[in-house]
Amino acid sequence: MSRIPFAITVAAVLLDAALGQRMSARRIAWNKPFPPFHLAGPIYYVGSAGLACYLIHTQAGDILLDAGLPEMARQVEANIAKLGFRVSGIRILLNTHAHFDHAGGLATLKQKSDAMFYASQGDAALLRAGTAFPALKVDHLIRDGERVILGAVTMTAHLTPGHTPGCTTWTMPIAEGGRTLHVLFFCSISVADNRLVGRTTYPGIAADYERSFALLKTLPCDIFLAPHTEFFHMREKVSRMKAGAPNPFIDPGEFQRFLAGAERDFNEALARQRAALSRRDARPGELKTGSH
Ligand code: ZN
Repeated sequence: MSRIPFAITVAAVLLDAALGQRMSARRIAWNKPFPPFHLAGPIYYVGSAGLACYLIHTQAGDILLDAGLPEMARQVEANIAKLGFRVSGIRILLNTHAHFDHAGGLATLKQKSDAMFYASQGDAALLRAGTAFPALKVDHLIRDGERVILGAVTMTAHLTPGHTPGCTTWTMPIAEGGRTLHVLFFCSISVADNRLVGRTTYPGIAADYERSFALLKTLPCDIFLAPHTEFFHMREKVSRMKAGAPNPFIDPGEFQRFLAGAERDFNEALARQRAALSRRDARPGELKTGSH
């Protein structure tokens, strides 16, 4: 029987603990409560400091977009109550993408609200399987360009795959100060842990990212919202909100600036992954397996 040297075992345990700690530190920061507030038109913010959840209020009932981590469901429910609304008033649940930090609280809130859950075909399998977050039933499959209408609100789904296979960006016009503003609820387009080349996360992923960048560049956006609050500098904007002053969330150029940076990051990640793959291919005899 071979014995693993003690020092290696200790190093592995320490590394594991450090990774675990970093994960949970990030999770704790994301989970930090944030006071709910009226954002614009029928849109209310009911998420945490790091993870966004949006309640869209209509006379015919409410829509909830994203529900954060599994442990955030109670916080989202309390935020909805603080604004004078009720979870039982939610008619439709939507999700930007099937990751634990945005879909995690949906199962609990679906149970409490009895709302219908609409999701894209591309993410439905992940949501039904519920890996890393509670599984939930998809009541309706959203098509690209489909409009979800409730009361006076119309939300349009734009499939922007890449970050996940069914990543969905939502757009919605609102009336503000006598004009129409375009609100965009961005999915995400970061590479994160995705493998773009070789043994890819899913077939066609790199081409999906490229098509999604091209599509997102065409979408009008006066108010840029996203599932992670740092994407659109939420806290900084909230600190600038004042009655009678212009709404700091209105910034027509912001989304395109964000996209330009995201596309640079994507191209760099793609080049890095291609280079790493060709280095591996250049060394014959080496086992070509990647860790997962
Ligand atoms: Zn994600």
